[in-house]
Amino acid sequence: MESSTPQDKVRVRFAPSPTGFLHVGNARTALFNWLVARHFEGSFLLRIEDTDAERSRLEYETQLMADLRWLGLDWDEGVDIGGDYGPYRQTDRYGLYRKSAGLLLAKDRAFRCFCSEEELERARQEQLARGEMPRYSGKCRHLAPAAIAAQLQAGTPFVLRLRVRPGTVGFSDLVYGRIEIDTVQISDPVILRSDASPTYNFSVVVDDVAMKITHVIRGDGHLSNTHRQILIYEALEAPAPSFAHLPTVLGPDGSKLSKRHGAASLEEFRLQGYLAGALVNYLALLGWSPPGEGKEIMDVAEIVARFELSRVSRSSAIFDSTKLDWMNRNYINAMPLPDLLQHALPHLVAAGLIMPEPDARVRAWLELVLDAVRSHVDHLDQLPRECAVVFGFPGGLPALEEEARAILAEPGALRVAREFERLVAEREVLTLDAYREIAGLVKQATGQKGRHLFHPIRAALTGRGSGPELDRLIPIYEEGSRLGLPRRVMPCRERLAAVLGLF
Ligand code: GLU
Repeated sequence: MESSTPQDKVRVRFAPSPTGFLHVGNARTALFNWLVARHFEGSFLLRIEDTDAERSRLEYETQLMADLRWLGLDWDEGVDIGGDYGPYRQTDRYGLYRKSAGLLLAKDRAFRCFCSEEELERARQEQLARGEMPRYSGKCRHLAPAAIAAQLQAGTPFVLRLRVRPGTVGFSDLVYGRIEIDTVQISDPVILRSDASPTYNFSVVVDDVAMKITHVIRGDGHLSNTHRQILIYEALEAPAPSFAHLPTVLGPDGSKLSKRHGAASLEEFRLQGYLAGALVNYLALLGWSPPGEGKEIMDVAEIVARFELSRVSRSSAIFDSTKLDWMNRNYINAMPLPDLLQHALPHLVAAGLIMPEPDARVRAWLELVLDAVRSHVDHLDQLPRECAVVFGFPGGLPALEEEARAILAEPGALRVAREFERLVAEREVLTLDAYREIAGLVKQATGQKGRHLFHPIRAALTGRGSGPELDRLIPIYEEGSRLGLPRRVMPCRERLAAVLGLF
């Protein structure tokens, strides 16, 4: 596909089967389709392929739409919003498949096959025993009209098979290049089962034709279906769309990505506090790279502008959760604080740190907290853990880290800390100015400076050896203690007393 505007309006579709939760691989397929649609100002369709009655569930359909919306992948036509080429759920299109199959039968591009399952299975076993590739024998390909009439009369169940022509069949995949095969490798594929339900290869082609799809972009697991589908386009006398098959997403160990490699469903990523923008950015780079200097952090508008199928790589895309974490951390740190607070609140509320719907004063304070700790989290469900530096000391007892204990055990450290505590106790509130003044006084009184001055102060205030800057933490402790939060925040004075009381 050229980057210039194509002649016909680009129409692409994401066609999930609602048989499970949306996982990384499928989300990447949805995203690439959406990117192509938005890049060319075309249409993105959501078609539900629910022909597998046993495994398809409405709850999966609902969830996958919620996941796509969360990612920001909006569709222009689909089950919920309709469109000019509906219905968009395959089980609502059975009449259409039967009609198309009937046309192929009338044109002799399809034929009735009366072979029973047992018969086909026996033939298969015999072929395997002879070391041949199992293939439909062609037994019903040339039944005489009288024989067909007799079978129909007897009520013998039958399927419809495509009459595969001799010769080669091929297509030029936008990712994999030209792939041609001899049609002897293809058995006459079933298009309609004996219960008149369509097979995947048939329904997908009938729909892609009817919905005027210009580009089929899907996982490379479907490469082997494509030749059959091309033969169905031919039989329907419809032009085939362009195809782009995307490399399979693998785990770091090279096996197909699964739950073993960490969170796999979109819902899980959302619950763990990955930001949709970060995930979209990450998924876009699973198989695609922009031309040029290797820039990786790109907002969605930039990705839309730069996206090209010609830069999708054939080599498998490795899902690397460390890189996703790095990406998410970047987004967390770049996000405006009021927005970050919106995303963080559910995690803080769930951890019992904050009541739902906090007032403006609490929100302003929470923004200070988030700003102090956000560089330490990869995903937002880690916030409660990081916020322990603020909310810690439940029941008034500090969990003194080993590192903090070691700092306070250094020569002169306890004297610094106690002098600091004494001077702080003289103040009503510890403002930042007061803190700086007191630090100066402690320095004079003890002769300690630099890390010998500030490390003991930090250890005594926070119970930890490292963490956010004291300049940030002190106002957070002081203001937080006045907010009446469900999990009380101790002011500096109390914190110092609690820690130093241990010595
Ligand atoms: N329902 C198919 C799947 O989920 C869609 C394949 C296609 O895009 O043609 O794999």
